[in-house]
Amino acid sequence: MFYEGDPMNQPAWNRKLLNGYWMVVLLYFLAGLAGLVVTIVQFAWWLDYYLLHQLLIPLGLMAVEVAALEFGFRKRQERMEVWFLLTATVLAATIVWFNPNLHGMYALLALSTLMSLIYFERRLTLFSALLGILALFLLQVNPAVHASMSAYELIAMVAALFGAYLLGLCVILRGEQILNQLKKAMESERDLLVDNIMYDTMTKTDALTGLYNHKTFHEYLDSLLKLEADQLTMQVALLDIDNFKSINDTYGHWVGDLVLKRIALMIREVVTPNDFVARYGGEEFALILTDSTAEQGHRTLDEIRRRISEVVHEELDGRSVTVSIGFTDREPGMRKEELFKMADTRLYTAKRTGKNKVVGVRQETPNL
Ligand code: GH3
Ligand code: MG
Ligand code: MG
Repeated sequence: MFYEGDPMNQPAWNRKLLNGYWMVVLLYFLAGLAGLVVTIVQFAWWLDYYLLHQLLIPLGLMAVEVAALEFGFRKRQERMEVWFLLTATVLAATIVWFNPNLHGMYALLALSTLMSLIYFERRLTLFSALLGILALFLLQVNPAVHASMSAYELIAMVAALFGAYLLGLCVILRGEQILNQLKKAMESERDLLVDNIMYDTMTKTDALTGLYNHKTFHEYLDSLLKLEADQLTMQVALLDIDNFKSINDTYGHWVGDLVLKRIALMIREVVTPNDFVARYGGEEFALILTDSTAEQGHRTLDEIRRRISEVVHEELDGRSVTVSIGFTDREPGMRKEELFKMADTRLYTAKRTGKNKVVGVRQETPNL
């Protein structure tokens, strides 16, 4: 029921209970002192007996009982519930034993049942109720207790203790019900969250390649440009597969799709988490590189181009596929349209001048 980090953490609660037990000893002491005044004023002849049998001996015993629990608790910390309930009953029995004529004190035997509710475990509540009933019968060994209780009172007391148990059980059942409702509410909230994430992923990405889609690309680019951070270095690149139509025409669209997926994966492998890759449409991809200089960006894009060109596709009878890339470095104050148009023009240049190349700031065009 309890685990570490649990707000209902058992050792922490037991510590609180233990402090409560010490409070009971203190209360008994204070009530005893008040009783002492009454004794001195009204029943002076009774003083010696009162001091010893109603104040010092029970107080000493109670202190020993709580000290023993304190000792056990410090040694063990965990799984002390049974001992806590036992001590509560023993404390109540001690008070009853030495004050047999104070009938109200018999109710103390039900306190461990109420206290057991803190643990929120049915069997512990049953255990404490049985302890209370057992203590009631054992107390009959004391002739003074026996004499102060009629058989009727004994039966009524057993019924009352059992009643306390039933009441405790109701509280636990109600608590369990609320807990279940809470659990269900939390579960449906979590399901909703998962649904939202899935929906979000579905609307933001492209089903075939798993890359971001056209719409997300523009949203991301807009948000980056809105930052107006002139110190933010950024390159936008457009990548288009060379002669893709002929792949489709020769090997079919199914193979074309396979190649598209493979190329998407290869692009992903090269870029860093600072970069953004989208399938812009058809066999075109758009990239936003951030956190790299134009020179580094060029190198990254050329690495993508080189890797793609080196892969031999079994489905294309061992042929390889190449891509052309146009890219531009963002200069301060550049608008989205300019940025995009420049990358597009350079892609066109790459296509026009032989394909399988990167055209960007650096105008030399490796064509391997
Ligand atoms: P270039 O080197 O000039 O880019 O020539 P290209 O053949 O790649 O260019 P073009 O734009 O003429 O052809 C692009 C082709 O890409 C046309 C279309 O059939 C194909 N295509 C677009 N989207 C998909 C897709 O999702 N799956 C498949 N298999 N093919 C696609
Ligand atoms: Mg195209
Ligand atoms: Mg193409």
